[in-house]
Amino acid sequence: IHGDSDTKVPSLPPSGVDDSVPHSARVYDWWLGGKDNFAVDRAMGQALIQAIPTLKTMAAENRAFVHRVARYLVAEAGVRQFLDIGTGIPTQPNLHEVAQELAPEARVVYVDNDPIVLAHARALMVSTEQGRSEYIHADLRAPETILRDARLVDTLDLSQPVALTLIAVLMLLRDQDDPIGKVRALMDALPSGSYLAITHPTQDFNPVQMQAAVAAATQGNMTLVPRTRAEVEEFFAGWELVEPGVVPVLAWRPDGAAPADPEAAYYWSGLARKP
Ligand code: SAH
Repeated sequence: IHGDSDTKVPSLPPSGVDDSVPHSARVYDWWLGGKDNFAVDRAMGQALIQAIPTLKTMAAENRAFVHRVARYLVAEAGVRQFLDIGTGIPTQPNLHEVAQELAPEARVVYVDNDPIVLAHARALMVSTEQGRSEYIHADLRAPETILRDARLVDTLDLSQPVALTLIAVLMLLRDQDDPIGKVRALMDALPSGSYLAITHPTQDFNPVQMQAAVAAATQGNMTLVPRTRAEVEEFFAGWELVEPGVVPVLAWRPDGAAPADPEAAYYWSGLARKP
């Protein structure tokens, strides 16, 4: 209606989106140079950069791991199915795009619990014709809900190997959320030959900076639980770690030369295969 442009109607965020508190998906989007974030998210992102000045580089390195591990899984491990939980706001290239470039028939189910990711889900579902890409709005803390979802059951054949990818999401679960138990429930539902990939922020490389980040997150009511190498290894228990094991994210099968300082990004990373 003509005249509406004169009234100062604030642009409303998508339904269910709360722009008064920072959300991890939007803070991370801002670090990656995305546009789907609000002032509270940028303030939180900046406070975390105060604590860890190289955080934007680390976020980019975490994404680079997603690309490397997806290519490894498709090209070397022969995996054609992915279950990605804690997907985040779409960022090019998304997991299914990396996988389908090598195997157009690859199928991916994405899961996130943030309404802003749901609002962008259509971008995550632009699949090749031969493959498939689906989105489920659900919570990692309710694995049975994810496993029973009709979209998952329709998209993934759980008698064939699936790669479960938990990339920069487990630090958003507190110990009392039982992350080990929730991940185990998902692992138990997958057949032999399946894989689990994890990246996880840690205090092991620079305790001072990571503690400052935890303090900033706590201040802003955001959960951030860094974990030690032993704690990250516990998620993989009973599965066979793919070489080089649980290592700094920069050191996990780098594309080029080995990084000068592998501990420059404060993330552990690993990939394991279900025997
Ligand atoms: N995996 C992506 C995005 C990481 S940001 C990447 O590494 O590039 C973390 C994402 O996890 C956010 O989108 C956030 O909304 C989601 N998340 C946080 N807690 C979750 C939970 N309990 N269940 C599902 N998703 C969750």
